[in-house]
Amino acid sequence: MSGRMIEVANPRTGAVDYRFDAVDEAGLSKLAARLRAAQGQWAARTIEDRCEALLGWADSIDRHKDAIAAALETDTGRRRIARLEVEGAIASIRGWAAGAPHLLPQPQWAEGRMNPAIRHQAQDVPYALTGVISPWNFPLTLSLIDTIPALIAGSAVIVKPSEVTPRFAEPLGAAIAEAGLSDLLAFAPGDGATGAALVDQVDVVCFTGSVPTGKKVAVRAAGRLIPAFLELGGKDPLIILESADMDRAVTAALRGSVLSTGQACQSIERIYVARAIYPDFLDRLVTAAEAVRFNWPDINSGELGPMIFARQADIIAGQLEDAVARGAKVLTGGKIDRHGGGYWIAPTVLTDVTHDMAIIRDETFGPILPVMAFDSVEEAVRLANDTVYGLSAAVIAGTIEEAEGVGRQLDAGAVTLNDAALTALFHEAEKQSFKQSGLGPSRMGAAGLLRFYRRKALIAQTGAPAPLSAFSEG
Ligand code: NAD
Repeated sequence: MSGRMIEVANPRTGAVDYRFDAVDEAGLSKLAARLRAAQGQWAARTIEDRCEALLGWADSIDRHKDAIAAALETDTGRRRIARLEVEGAIASIRGWAAGAPHLLPQPQWAEGRMNPAIRHQAQDVPYALTGVISPWNFPLTLSLIDTIPALIAGSAVIVKPSEVTPRFAEPLGAAIAEAGLSDLLAFAPGDGATGAALVDQVDVVCFTGSVPTGKKVAVRAAGRLIPAFLELGGKDPLIILESADMDRAVTAALRGSVLSTGQACQSIERIYVARAIYPDFLDRLVTAAEAVRFNWPDINSGELGPMIFARQADIIAGQLEDAVARGAKVLTGGKIDRHGGGYWIAPTVLTDVTHDMAIIRDETFGPILPVMAFDSVEEAVRLANDTVYGLSAAVIAGTIEEAEGVGRQLDAGAVTLNDAALTALFHEAEKQSFKQSGLGPSRMGAAGLLRFYRRKALIAQTGAPAPLSAFSEG
């Protein structure tokens, strides 16, 4: 314990109702030593055995799910998504435990092509200690998304959750202890200083967060020559072609953009619509946006929670102000509301936007839908690709084939066809983050597990070793 206390505000009330002691360098170093001491035995067990242990953890999370969901609810100001996060974590552990043993190649000796007397075999060796640094928007999901496959691979893991949403770690810790995993998985609460210090202790770091922080983590990891797997921000475009079904387009655009109050990396943040259907689409989008309700004052009603991180409200307000000053029109929404001490923002539809505006260029992380018309598919593709980000994108057309034709031209790591933001709901397809949206192998699909191994070669001489004279010049 460092004695450096961090205060945490409740997103629904604005009041500081939680304080925690940030783990410092000395604390991390002790923790790392403890986990490293236990990791060897963990890695020596079979993958089936480790999966079995994780299934026990899934059961203990299930037993503690009310307490974990309640803490997450206070962290994020939303109830339904908090519960879905807990259920999703349990399902994810069970899914990985069922599938992981089949993903590793069975090691066997192979004869060399040039010299059959030399045989070789691969050994997949896990990183001993993995560091996970997570953001505040899905505190549990994004703390465990890398942790689960890392543990299954045989690594021990230290997670540094966001200082904005740290409450869930306590009840989750009880489930970790109950499953007997405390020597292999530990949470180290703290802020950026703790995150930076964690990079100095681990053998690989998985970071989910903003581009500026991701760059700092990459530089620090480079200083130690350890890999940094980065999952960063996005500015996802949605292209709606003239042939699109209008109900599908409006439903997908609205959900893809405002779910979780837009506080999701894969949120739709730019919408490009074929000019022929633009007026009709706008009308319907505005009507749908105006039907969305806050989960205030009753947390059991409505679709949108508060802004989790109050400072994000200033960023959104600044982008809206800049857009309006440059000629954008707000068709609905457009201002930050205050209820009960929290910050809220209704779905906001904007037109007359341009690529000079921050609201089109920078990540917004709010329920904002800037809409532009396009005259040709080439123009739509050019506009969608005109960004430093490349996290994901979406295309809606009359047929999957037509959407696919456009999707193949988009410079992003995942493209949803005939829906929006499917990477939030579907984690089986491998995807990498393009451009400034990240670095490293896919965290989804088989690569999500295999990235935690380094491949070692065992090379056996079954014939006579070559004498030095075989290399003689004379
Ligand atoms: P952030 O970058 O501010 O913080 C993320 C984490 O990094 C926090 O735990 C923070 O304490 C820690 N941190 C801060 N400074 C650090 C440092 N110097 N070294 C190490 N760690 C440090 O991000 P945020 O505001 O918490 O989250 C929002 C961002 O996360 C958005 O940009 C969003 O797009 C992104 N995100 C990306 C994905 C993805 O999968 N690509 C998913 C969710 C969120």
